[in-house]
Amino acid sequence: MDLGISGKTALVCASSKGLGLGCAEALAEAGVNLVMNARGSEALDASAQAIRDTYGVEVTAIAADITSEDGRAKVLEAASQLDILVNNAGGPPPGLWSDWDRDDFIKALDANMLTPIALMKALLPGMMDRGWGRVVNITSQSVKAPIPQLGLSNAARAGLTGYVGGTARQVAEFGVNINNLLPGIHATDRASSLDQAVADREGITVDEAHAKRSATIPARRYGTRQEFGATCAFMCSQHAGFMVGQNILLDGGSTNATL
Ligand code: NAP
Repeated sequence: MDLGISGKTALVCASSKGLGLGCAEALAEAGVNLVMNARGSEALDASAQAIRDTYGVEVTAIAADITSEDGRAKVLEAASQLDILVNNAGGPPPGLWSDWDRDDFIKALDANMLTPIALMKALLPGMMDRGWGRVVNITSQSVKAPIPQLGLSNAARAGLTGYVGGTARQVAEFGVNINNLLPGIHATDRASSLDQAVADREGITVDEAHAKRSATIPARRYGTRQEFGATCAFMCSQHAGFMVGQNILLDGGSTNATL
């Protein structure tokens, strides 16, 4: 399917690895030029070069912490006109409700709620002026079904979801579509480190932890970054122009709910 976005430019935050990289690859395959970002430059430069070599699109790689004001300024400086914004950053650490104090919440809100909001605030006016834009926020299945040990993530992502629910409806008439993409378990470094934590806690191998978690998913496997990226690229496409303020779950059936 021609996604109709060849020649447009996208900022994909936190995209040297994992789900962000999957989104960058799928957009590049659709002919979209990219601004890619991560804190570490080694993996970022390697991923950017692999995308240039494979898809022949322009890629600007900016090493910066997207959750800091300085980092965001650096990334935005490199991107003159952006048509597509994919918001992403690392997720907050797991724990117990009694572990977290105000500073922990402020850090999680900064990373997973206020950073995407700041980037939308910076980029929506240009998209609205040009009459076309797409924003996809990578959140989590925990928005639909909160995960007990991810209280910081549950809180920050619910806040972002509420903001998007209102804002998406204020900008839709200008040809700008904002939606959220909610990953369930996908095979990335983040998932591996969660498996490692389970293995350490339960005295089992990482493979056993992986198999145990896969068994809880109706699809009986983890999702791939390619599947995730393809869904993101569709949400950024011409065909998604009537999708406004939605929360699209990609979780192999884990969240058992009809709505
Ligand atoms: P990942 O494999 O650990 O990759 C994270 C990527 O983000 C890396 O490229 C990393 O590079 C970059 N990054 C992290 N913090 C950053 C920051 N502050 N500024 C700029 N770049 C940053 O993680 P993932 O699995 O793709 O997860 C992406 C998001 O989806 C996370 O918020 C996660 O909580 C959420 N999620 C993931 C899953 C899953 O199963 N994978 C499920 C639900 C939700 P550097 O470290 O070099 O910065």
